[in-house]
Amino acid sequence: MTKIRTRIAPSPTGFLHLGTARTALYSWAYARHYGGEFVLRIEDTDVARSSQDSVDQILQSMHWLGLNYDEGPIYQMQRLARYQTVIDQMLAAGTAYRCYCTPADLETMKAAQEARGDKRLYDRTWRPAPGKVLPPVPAGVQPVIRFANPVDGVVTWNDLVKGPISISNTEIDDLIIQRAPEEDAPEGTLGVPTYNFAVVVDDWDMAISHVFRGDEHINNTPWQINMYRALDAALPQFGHLPVILGDDGQKLSKRRGAVAVSNYDEAGYLPEAMNNYLARLGWSHGDDELFSLDQMVQWFDGTHLSKSPAQWDASKLAWVNAQHLKRMDDAALAQKVQPFLAKLGVAADDRLTAICGLFKDRCETLVVLAKWVSAFYTEVVPNPEEKAQHVSDAVKPALALLAEKLALCAWDKTSISAVIKDVLTSTGLKMPQIAMPVRVLVMGTAQTPSLDAVLALNKREKILECLQNA
Ligand code: GLU
Repeated sequence: MTKIRTRIAPSPTGFLHLGTARTALYSWAYARHYGGEFVLRIEDTDVARSSQDSVDQILQSMHWLGLNYDEGPIYQMQRLARYQTVIDQMLAAGTAYRCYCTPADLETMKAAQEARGDKRLYDRTWRPAPGKVLPPVPAGVQPVIRFANPVDGVVTWNDLVKGPISISNTEIDDLIIQRAPEEDAPEGTLGVPTYNFAVVVDDWDMAISHVFRGDEHINNTPWQINMYRALDAALPQFGHLPVILGDDGQKLSKRRGAVAVSNYDEAGYLPEAMNNYLARLGWSHGDDELFSLDQMVQWFDGTHLSKSPAQWDASKLAWVNAQHLKRMDDAALAQKVQPFLAKLGVAADDRLTAICGLFKDRCETLVVLAKWVSAFYTEVVPNPEEKAQHVSDAVKPALALLAEKLALCAWDKTSISAVIKDVLTSTGLKMPQIAMPVRVLVMGTAQTPSLDAVLALNKREKILECLQNA
């Protein structure tokens, strides 16, 4: 069996999009499942739109997701010489040819085709054929290189996701595979290849066995398959993943919400949860909703991929994140929340792990957890409505009594709990009548974990101060 090698090949024209992240996750998990290798390639041939900043963002997001690669990043713009070699071989073999049509020629061609109601395809003016006399080469025009696509027949492949797909060669034309160098480019400058050519040479050179990508590329695949054949290269298997729709049923896009992986990092999502959620957008393992990356690797064998588009559901993601937060080890969580505390200007101490443990089951994101944690380290302003509701005059003497006793007891949960019970007994109040106002004064809100635990994790002086402010 050939070695399983997969890749992700983002174009650095922006951040890592959620759709690309899902493709990366599937490609990665597939390689890991079969003990294969995963390659990261940066497809930067769109020179005008590519940027180092985008590369950095993409690498950062891949790192955050934990999708480690065995090779790469490999940059296409560093492989121009290799593409040139292949182009030269194809020119020599007659599977590619020079085309001197100017943009104006192509416009005229297009207008004539439209007038006739024909499909808009390049008319193969410059394609050599036995007995055909080519037009004279125009002076001063730098040619582009076109692929001599088979003129008839059908391209068929068995898509790993969509099943058998056939596209007739009469539907597709002779694709430009290499642009001409800029007119003012120095002598010897190599032309930049187009996506469909570079992707084939790369996947071939990098021995990619399985190509997963978005289904917007389905129409490119026949060209690519024809090029593999022209190059006598072994074909990879293709799997085209359906788009992810936004919660409005439209294609997920920047205009409709956060679509960059980095947005979710900043918003306090865990990479574990992100991977879990993305995994389920187009793949399933029975009814399993919550799983780790390790489990996914165990299960992800290329089956159970969905043919139909998945819908992004922000509240489901938040739920998945909450579940992962809840399952996370307290000390690990304390590490994860640190950057969010730093943003709030909070410097935590050795109570942090225990605080995370106490609050982790009520947070959807690390941002929310950081807000809870900050209540232990900053001055708390009670929510005015809750204060008015719970901190009544009737309860104030009891609060004063509590403060008195808390000033003297040992500072641990058991002792604090005993003090609270004492106060309840001597005042005849019920637990909520004391617990609610104290929570509001200490944490700002009455919706907190159990009072003794919250108090024990606070500093005694701070609690006494809060109670005095009743
Ligand atoms: N650079 C292409 C993209 O970002 C890669 C497509 C492919 O995987 O072949 O869509």
